Amino acid sequence: MTVITRFAPSPTGTLHVGNIRTALHNWLFARANGGRFLLRIDDTDGARSEERFVESIRADLAWLGLVPDGEERQSARFDRYEAVFEQLVAKRWIYPAYETPDELELRRKVLLGRGLPPIYERTALTLTDAERAAFEAEGRRPHWRFHLDHVPIVWEDLIRGPQRFDATTMSDPVIRRADGSWLYLLPSVIDDVDMGITHVVRGEDHVSNTALQLQMFQAMGAAPPDFAHEALLTGAEGKLSKRLGALGVGHFREAGIEPQALVALLARIGTSAPVEPFADPAPLIAGFDFAQFGRAPARFDEAELAALSSRIVHQLGFAQVAERLPVGMGDAAWDAIRPNLTTVAEAADWWQVIEGPVTPPELAEEDRGFVAQAAQLAESLDWSGDPWRALTAALKDASGRKGRALFLPLRLALTGREHGPDMAALLPLIGAERASARLRAAA
Ligand code: GLU
Repeated sequence: MTVITRFAPSPTGTLHVGNIRTALHNWLFARANGGRFLLRIDDTDGARSEERFVESIRADLAWLGLVPDGEERQSARFDRYEAVFEQLVAKRWIYPAYETPDELELRRKVLLGRGLPPIYERTALTLTDAERAAFEAEGRRPHWRFHLDHVPIVWEDLIRGPQRFDATTMSDPVIRRADGSWLYLLPSVIDDVDMGITHVVRGEDHVSNTALQLQMFQAMGAAPPDFAHEALLTGAEGKLSKRLGALGVGHFREAGIEPQALVALLARIGTSAPVEPFADPAPLIAGFDFAQFGRAPARFDEAELAALSSRIVHQLGFAQVAERLPVGMGDAAWDAIRPNLTTVAEAADWWQVIEGPVTPPELAEEDRGFVAQAAQLAESLDWSGDPWRALTAALKDASGRKGRALFLPLRLALTGREHGPDMAALLPLIGAERASARLRAAA
């Protein structure tokens, strides 16, 4: 059996961190099993779906490296939904109901008032042909409900373990509106059957949908896929926050977060496996296992993401970042500054330090004399080997200074900053000419 998973967003907005996590788990599971990962665009709602969101979903997945092996669109499959619908109506798995929203609401209130669960009472099933004809004659169009088989619904969830629902406690779900438009439940099942989906991986907000959908697989005469319902994401403060729902790829890109950081974090939070700064997803794929997923909400912490991202930046090779670096910056400069970066964008600051101009620091009188000495020594320095070592060794002898008193005035004069990358790596990049000029200017 080839594993086939799908990520099924509705293109009514951009992806947020919760959707991204679901997409990632579908991708990781497919990759871990040599399977296929499909992108399914759930665009049955033509009024709310927008092409720009379809494009942004594709672009976001590409940025994250979660490239689908195929793409499907629900809006291209209405004929198929219609055909299955007709079959299921003929087999009485689906029936028409004529109640108006007001009538349904009134019944709900009556039931609740009597202390009863507000379950749909299947009044539509008791209508005679004449009553139906009367509704049609007065212009009412039916909506359509799926007729649940009143038996226990059970499955073994890959994350939640054994699940059990009692169908008698559930209303027959509406699967199609009076205007002919589709609700999510049935088209999703038809797609899962037709596309050979073997594993449905989604948020636990879909658990009760799964109970309903299991009977729809049965109605179609199809074996259901396996299900994995993941616990939802919460913010660092432990609450479901509105903010999380608004955080998407655009925000993270702007903050200089590397896609690998988002992947590494979202792959592991909420699981028993540690969060580790993987610049390559191979170990995440190899170690992916639903058995490691917990039932408690996964905590998403932006500070943890930023820290992980900088640890990933430190691992990136020149070729991986070259096109994002300032023009002219080569691999030696990247290697020199990389350990000091939290984001790749900060490379531009250090490139400016290398290339200049650098504002000469205001040094104390005695440090100026010392830097003047350095300027002189720099003239006759051997720049071919390790000039920093040669310069500081000579200055140590000449001035008797050591430690901070030796190094700090030099760093200040050469870079204009108190802290920064290893001077041994930086000085050859600054070069003889600029170094001498900076030392003279600071003296
Ligand atoms: N479009 C549905 C959603 O966004 C898909 C759910 C599913 O994975 O079946 O919630």
